[in-house]
Amino acid sequence: TGSQWNVAELEDAAHRHLISPAEELAKLGTSGGRTLFTSADGIYITDSRGRRMIDGPAGMWCTQVGYNCKPIADAIAAQALRICYNSPWYSLNGPSAGLARRIAEFAPGDLNHVFFTTGGSSAVDSALRFMQFFNNVLGRPSKKTIICRIDGYHGSTHLTAACSGRAGNRPNFDLEMDNVTFISAPNRYRHPQGGDEAAFLEFLVAEFEERIESLGPQNIGAFLAEPVLASGGVIVPPKGYHRRFLEICRKHDILYISDEVVTGFGRCGEWFASEPAFDIVPDIITFAKGVTSGYVPLGGFVISDAVLGRISGENAKGSAYTNGYTYSGHPVSCAAALANIEVIEQGGLLAHVREVAPYFQEQLRKLGEIPLVGDVRGIGLLGCVECATDPHSQAATDFDKAVAARIDRLCYENGLIVRPIGSMCVLSPALIIKKEEIDTMISILRESIEKVQ
Ligand code: PLP
Repeated sequence: TGSQWNVAELEDAAHRHLISPAEELAKLGTSGGRTLFTSADGIYITDSRGRRMIDGPAGMWCTQVGYNCKPIADAIAAQALRICYNSPWYSLNGPSAGLARRIAEFAPGDLNHVFFTTGGSSAVDSALRFMQFFNNVLGRPSKKTIICRIDGYHGSTHLTAACSGRAGNRPNFDLEMDNVTFISAPNRYRHPQGGDEAAFLEFLVAEFEERIESLGPQNIGAFLAEPVLASGGVIVPPKGYHRRFLEICRKHDILYISDEVVTGFGRCGEWFASEPAFDIVPDIITFAKGVTSGYVPLGGFVISDAVLGRISGENAKGSAYTNGYTYSGHPVSCAAALANIEVIEQGGLLAHVREVAPYFQEQLRKLGEIPLVGDVRGIGLLGCVECATDPHSQAATDFDKAVAARIDRLCYENGLIVRPIGSMCVLSPALIIKKEEIDTMISILRESIEKVQ
C-alpha cells in the first residue's frame, strides 16, 4: 500500500473518516464499501485482493496514456524538486507558459489564450465567470443566462452543478441559480422526437431558437455543451447539431462554450473533438482530465482571440479579470501535462485512437443483438451499452438500473471494470488499448450481460 498501514487498516480508516464524492451516508462508519486499488500498469488496475482488471473507464475518463507512465512521473518529481510552486498572481513559471503555448498550437481556430484551473469543475466555472465579466465589461449586464442541456454534466461547484441537468445529482441541492435554463439532450434513443435523425435535429434547433426568442437574446450569455454528453450516457448528437447551434449563437452574440473535459486530449482521436469531429470552432473550450492523464489535477479553458480581443488591449475597460486560484498554472501539474502531451505525440496515440476506435465501436455495437440491450452508442474511445428490459419504455426503470449494476459486478469478477451510470454500462479505456484488449473487454461484457439476461 506504500504506507505503514495494512489493507484492513486502510479500509477501516476510509470507512470511518473519508467522505467520498458520492457518499452513501447510510454506509458511513460501517464496514461495507469501496474497493481499494493498490497498483496499476498500462490499462490494468489491481485491487487489494490482488485481482488485476482492465480499467474500462480509464479512472473517470482520464488516464489517457495509461498507468505507470515513467516520463510523466519523472517530470512531476523533477518539477517538484526544481520549483514546486510560485504565485500565479505575481509571477510566471516555465511549465505553465510552455503548456499554454502547446494548447494554443493544437486548439482549433484562433483559440490562443489559456487560463488554468485545478480541474474540470473549476474550468467550466471559470469560463462561465468569464462570460459574466465579459458582458458586464461590454455594458450589457443582463446578458448572462446560460443555456444548458438536460443530462449534461459540467461539475460540482455551485455554478457548474446548477448547469448540470442530471436529475440524479440534484436531490437535496436546491439553492437554485436564476440564470440557468435547460433544453433537451440530443438523445435519439430516449427523446420522444428522436426517431428520425434529420427531423430530430430540426426539433432540437427549433427548441433552441424558441428558447432564445422567449428569453430574449439580450439576456443570454452562453450556450454550454459537451460535444458528446459523457456522464449523461455517451450521447452523440445528430449530425450537424453543433454546427447549427454555433451558427445560432453567432447570430445572437451568445458565447459557445464547448466542455471538452471528457472529449479532449485524444478520446475522439484528436486533441479536441470540436474540430474536426464536430466541425466547429467554439468561442471557449474547457479541458481537464486527459490533459495530465489524471496523474495530477489540472484543468482550464482556452479562448479565442476574437472574443478576448473585445475586452482586452485597447478595448480593456478598468478592472482586471480576477478569477484567482492559488494553483492556477501549478508548475508540477503543467510539467505533468507537458510530459503527457509528449507521450501522446511520441506514441502516435491520436493516430492509434483513429485506428482502433472504429474497431471498438463495431465490436461494441454487436452487443446490440442481445435482447436485454436497448441501445449501444459511442464515438472514438467512448462507448455505452444501455440496458432496457422493456424496449418500449421511454425511461430507464429501477429494474434496468439493478440489471446494469449486476452486469458491472459480474464484469468485475471476470476482470473488467465498467462504469455503471443508471441503466448504462460505460466504457472509455485508456488510449493505448490494443485490439486484442478491446476483444477481451467486449467479450467479458458480453458474457456478463448474457448471464444476467
Ligand atoms: N465537465 C465534464 C464534461 C465532466 O465530465 C466533468 C467530470 O466528469 C467535469 C466537467 C468536472 O470535472 P472535475 O470532476 O475534474 O471537476
